[in-house]
Amino acid sequence: MKNLENPITFLTNKDPEEPAIIAGPCSAESKEQVMATADAILSKGSAHIFRAGIWKPRTRPNSFEGIGEEGLPWLTAVKEKYNIPVSTEVAKTSHIEAALKHNIDLLWIGARTTASPFAMQEIADALRGVDIPVLVKNPVNAELALWIGGMERLNQAGINKIGAIHRGFSGIENTIYRNLPMWHLAMDLKRVHPEIPVICDPSHICGKREPIAHVAQHAVDLNLDGLMIETHINPDVALSDSGQQLTPDSLDSLLSNLVTKKEYSTKAQFEQKLEYLRAKIDRLDDELVELLKGRGQISVEIGKLKQTEQVTVFQQGRLDELLELRKDSAKKKGVNPEMVEDIFKRIHTESVELQCNLQHEKED
Ligand code: PEP
Ligand code: MN
Repeated sequence: MKNLENPITFLTNKDPEEPAIIAGPCSAESKEQVMATADAILSKGSAHIFRAGIWKPRTRPNSFEGIGEEGLPWLTAVKEKYNIPVSTEVAKTSHIEAALKHNIDLLWIGARTTASPFAMQEIADALRGVDIPVLVKNPVNAELALWIGGMERLNQAGINKIGAIHRGFSGIENTIYRNLPMWHLAMDLKRVHPEIPVICDPSHICGKREPIAHVAQHAVDLNLDGLMIETHINPDVALSDSGQQLTPDSLDSLLSNLVTKKEYSTKAQFEQKLEYLRAKIDRLDDELVELLKGRGQISVEIGKLKQTEQVTVFQQGRLDELLELRKDSAKKKGVNPEMVEDIFKRIHTESVELQCNLQHEKED
């Protein structure tokens, strides 16, 4: 991507060590609700950027679909009163035209929109020639390329102040989360594009209030660049996402309990200790690689044996047995059995590959 600039640094003059805080209601509902929420958050200085959804992509029809253009002057009023950037979600050309007309400072693209390349292209085309910061939420499905692809479309249309919002991914399993965090995808994005700030949205990850503070701390511990937290003056009567919005007071206490951290320390004693422990980890990791090599060699021998006996490479029973044995052993040793299961599924896939390749070599 070309000429990327940090949208948060562009909009605010916050301390670069502190996470950027974007707060405000899920939806703008009335002028009174927007102003009361803004007053309660901003009089305490609890946010760097104010948010409110004007057009709401709802899962089912006949729910509150946002107040529409009528609500944009309420955001402008917050901006004027507190001299703070304001932001809203846009999903199509008409939204962008209206948001620009009302001098909205920052646009974000919702998760359902990022999932659609046609919609992203329409947005990019509507923004061609406009200099406005845009944050792109991860698509609902766990696909990093689609997330990056959305940002690339904007960048190719000339948008260069691009940030990302990690709001979790839909999953079929029943978990404590509304959207699975799958933190590794946010970390992968940071690795591929370290110049793009990633803001975590714990509200949509959690779907309920209680775990939000914990998830927010986790994001900060992973060195993500900020938090977008839905905050409503009276969450219980909110017209959307009622269960996950915080009151301004609980936002305030979340932020004051948040332990912010720096990525590095210059203290010699700390550095020495870290280096010593990392050297130990590196030795163990190398042994793991050595063990995997030995395991691969035995797997090839097994493959040859199966070949002479015309036995299939994959045997479901053996995989099930192997996973059960390793999970049991993990449990006994106090190691997370789910992690062990994931690792051994991958190791087993590799074994199957090795043995299949043997078969193909013979055919060649
Ligand atoms: C929102 O931020 O209110 C919203 C609709 O989010 P998402 O696109 O992550 O569902
Ligand atoms: Mn919401």
